[in-house]
Amino acid sequence: MYDFLLSDDEKALKAEARRFAKEDVPSSLIRSMDADQIRYPREFLEKAASRKLLGLRFERQWGGRASKWTGEVAALEEIGVLGSSLSCLYALVSIIGEAVHVFGTDEQKEKYLKPTLEGKLCCAEALTEPRGGSDFFGATTVARKDGDHYILDGQKRFVVGAEGADYFLVYAKTAPDAPPHQSISAFLVDRDFGVEVKHVYGLLGSRGGGTGRIYFKDVRVPARQLVGPEHGGYLVFNRMMIPERLTTAAACLGMARCSLEVAARYANRRKAFGDLIRKYEAVSFKLADSLTRLDAARSLVYVTACHVDQGMDSRRMVSEAKKTSTEMLWSVVNDCMQVMGGIGYTNVYPIERFLRDARLQMIWTGTNEIMSLLIQHEFFRELLGKPADARNVEMDALDEEGEEEKVYE
Ligand SMILES: Cc1cc2nc3c(=O)[nH]c(=O)nc-3n(C[C@H](O)[C@H](O)[C@H](O)COP(=O)(O)OP(=O)(O)OC[C@H]3O[C@@H](n4cnc5c(N)ncnc54)[C@H](O)[C@@H]3O)c2cc1C
Repeated sequence: MYDFLLSDDEKALKAEARRFAKEDVPSSLIRSMDADQIRYPREFLEKAASRKLLGLRFERQWGGRASKWTGEVAALEEIGVLGSSLSCLYALVSIIGEAVHVFGTDEQKEKYLKPTLEGKLCCAEALTEPRGGSDFFGATTVARKDGDHYILDGQKRFVVGAEGADYFLVYAKTAPDAPPHQSISAFLVDRDFGVEVKHVYGLLGSRGGGTGRIYFKDVRVPARQLVGPEHGGYLVFNRMMIPERLTTAAACLGMARCSLEVAARYANRRKAFGDLIRKYEAVSFKLADSLTRLDAARSLVYVTACHVDQGMDSRRMVSEAKKTSTEMLWSVVNDCMQVMGGIGYTNVYPIERFLRDARLQMIWTGTNEIMSLLIQHEFFRELLGKPADARNVEMDALDEEGEEEKVYE
């Protein structure tokens, strides 16, 4: 239904991603990951790479397809049906790739971006620390300059892919006393520089993606591993927020869509009181409301993709898309479980896994509270900087004499 928004090439790409999700990813992989029997599914990334499905937006010379965001979002909706672990590992290439593609040197692109898109190297993003993830500028991991090296000390946690990654994109303080926006730098840090990785907790969902804690103890990182300007990590972070939030938003569409289809098929077969349950409004209206919420979220995600493609400042839109789509997913999967009754709560159907996966979406890549923080901040900035060229509807109030009652302090 949304294909009319896509070019012919994007439709073909979406179909390729759909075929990949259907034919190249065995159910046994998803089951083993969920059971924590697989800690990191490297073969999934290798397979996606062999189909040239990784890092779609990046230039062809690095192995991408020079696709637009609309194409990537369409592909990600198809990958989303695999659940949040696999779609996150898939998206990490797009997220870290963005930093290297936009800020990296050609040498870094050759050494990291290209082999990542070829499935030869795996990456992970190390931003969150035990002391907090929301407050980016509060980072305590430090990188001290030592000649033509930096010495990294600190730790990061909740790093998806930590267990299998060959390299990490790490944010560390290089100028702890400088104003926050000029205090942090981004680095590409190879695992074999001496990064220690630990698997320290079980997860409610999104399992099998190698989420772990990583430690830097006097890790020597050559200065050429800086991504972007020294102390300019904020620029990299700001840019990476676009793929972080948009990929999360897009993958949620796929998870919601397939959950809804499972519940609708069930409602079309399951009987209660002698009739199909879909005949009961309490059931069919839940499905209708879920579909409406899914379509509303999808509309926002696609418009946001177009917005980013136009090169506009999309911080507010990507935050709105992330918040809307993740909240949509949670409520849709919850309603799907309700439609299916007790069996939906069991592991006979994958709805319970999607529910566990869905919960994370409102927390990672920036919590939805942080999305709200940014949305209102950008809104006030736009509102207060706006020229007064629109009708002043305050003057249409019934009490035209009421100006003096407008007391603000
Ligand atoms: C399974 C999993 C995978 C993850 N993957 C990665 C990864 O690959 N790489 C990575 O770097 N991180 C990753 N994260 C971390 C994730 O992004 C953080 O958990 C998230 O940003 C929140 O940080 P926190 O957990 O430290 O919570 P805190 O920052 O401590 O926040 C706690 C609560 O306070 C609220 N809060 C904080 N500040 C404000 C404020 N100013 N206004 C309003 N509310 C506020 C938050 O919304 C939240 O509800 C992952 C997390 C999980 C659970």
